[in-house]
Amino acid sequence: MKAIEISGTRDVRLIDKAEPVISDPEEVIVKVKAVSICGTDVHTFQGEHPFVKPPVIVGHECCGEIVECGSGVNGVAAGDRVAIDPVLGCGSCRACTMGRANACADVKCRGVHVQGAMQEYFKIRGRDVHKLPDSVDDLALGALVEPMAIGAQACWRGNVGEDHVVLVFGAGPIGIAVMLNAHCLGARCILIDIKEDRLQRAVELGALAAFTATDPELKEKILALTDGEGPHVTCDAVGHPVIFEQCIDLVAPTGAVVLLGMDGSPNEVTEQQIFRKEMTVVGSRMNSNMFPTILDRVARGQMQLEQMVSHRFAVDQAAEAFTMAVEQPAGFLKSMITF
Ligand SMILES: [Zn+2]
Ligand SMILES: [Zn+2]
Repeated sequence: MKAIEISGTRDVRLIDKAEPVISDPEEVIVKVKAVSICGTDVHTFQGEHPFVKPPVIVGHECCGEIVECGSGVNGVAAGDRVAIDPVLGCGSCRACTMGRANACADVKCRGVHVQGAMQEYFKIRGRDVHKLPDSVDDLALGALVEPMAIGAQACWRGNVGEDHVVLVFGAGPIGIAVMLNAHCLGARCILIDIKEDRLQRAVELGALAAFTATDPELKEKILALTDGEGPHVTCDAVGHPVIFEQCIDLVAPTGAVVLLGMDGSPNEVTEQQIFRKEMTVVGSRMNSNMFPTILDRVARGQMQLEQMVSHRFAVDQAAEAFTMAVEQPAGFLKSMITF
């Protein structure tokens, strides 16, 4: 079978690989239909990922059709169209036991810590597949359930609710996923970015407002939209210490700050700031069983998966798909490779 390998820095190749064989009754084999490209994959392609080094098969935003099920798999069968949850916990620690394997100290993500989905056939655990609703007639869109689930997780962690205003820094795929989920919960969003095309897209997708990060009146504009109190929830979908400081500064008293980024550098936030507003500061990492939430929102027609993808490529154009994800031309949101 064919697989897309990142063979070296900025070097993507189609390779031949042995087809997977079921070796555990809990496993299924999925004929992969589509894999979308995430920032993590781009870092690996660029040779900039801290620990994922070529040669490697990446891909954690994926979907396909089940072709074979182990004897111990329940609830799904060959022929089912599924999205794949890439989060793998150890299964026995406290986080895993409470259904939050994404926060397991030993968590692995398929396509990052272990082999990913950019291959014709992908072997995974039966419990990691989630059936797509019939209303999704384009199977490839199933790949976008995973990035959407990141947004659902952030909204859950921030306790986003009806009539809230959510301020999201970053109008790339993650910020957009936060917004689209917040809309499902009856909230409205203000998006901040440095790229004009992204701000325009955010407005087209229903943002209450979208501002340039460098706008000298940013704070005044945000306060004007939130009764002078600040947003109920602020969200750093970029991962930058200065943005964290802005999130803390702008959030309304009793509000929540959600961190989706992973910058390791120090920041200037003080205990006093958190104390005075009695705010909640939370991390949001990958997703914890949010696939059913997304698939329910899709089935109800509240969410359109196609809003997350801007460019599609065939398998033999994989290098172009990665290159585009690096260059991010105007109008780019996410590229996807279809098998
Ligand atoms: Zn991703
Ligand atoms: Zn665990």
